[in-house]
Amino acid sequence: MTDSTPLSDFRPVRSGLMTGALDDLASVGLAGSRCRACGETTLGANTLCPNCGSDDVFPIALSDEGKVWTYTVVRYRPPGDYKGAEPFQPFAIGLVELPEGLRVVAPVGGDPDAVRIGMTVRFTARARADGVVEFVYNPAA
Ligand SMILES: [Zn+2]
Repeated sequence: MTDSTPLSDFRPVRSGLMTGALDDLASVGLAGSRCRACGETTLGANTLCPNCGSDDVFPIALSDEGKVWTYTVVRYRPPGDYKGAEPFQPFAIGLVELPEGLRVVAPVGGDPDAVRIGMTVRFTARARADGVVEFVYNPAA
């Protein structure tokens, strides 16, 4: 959270992706949905199952903790609308597997060279200076 952003200006990086109050980052988590017809679990608040097309979908809470399934380290500043640290610093992007059976693409915090497949990481919401609430998975203590 930044001191200069009015609370009403916080918005999620993607609509329907998060639960909790964006002005209380500790309360923020990932929204999930599960299909009664086929059992598919998906990221975000969905009204249709992307797997089978059923509208018999209900919201579920997704765990804050997951494991790095795989990752890569971004060592060069991406072109275009990159909104990360300035000056650029290398960072890890992980595919984090959650106990609910889905994998989430997200930055992995901390030293990118310390990231390992199978390490336990924890969801952490953070607000950019422009008010957008995004998230990172930090190594679990
Ligand atoms: Zn389905």
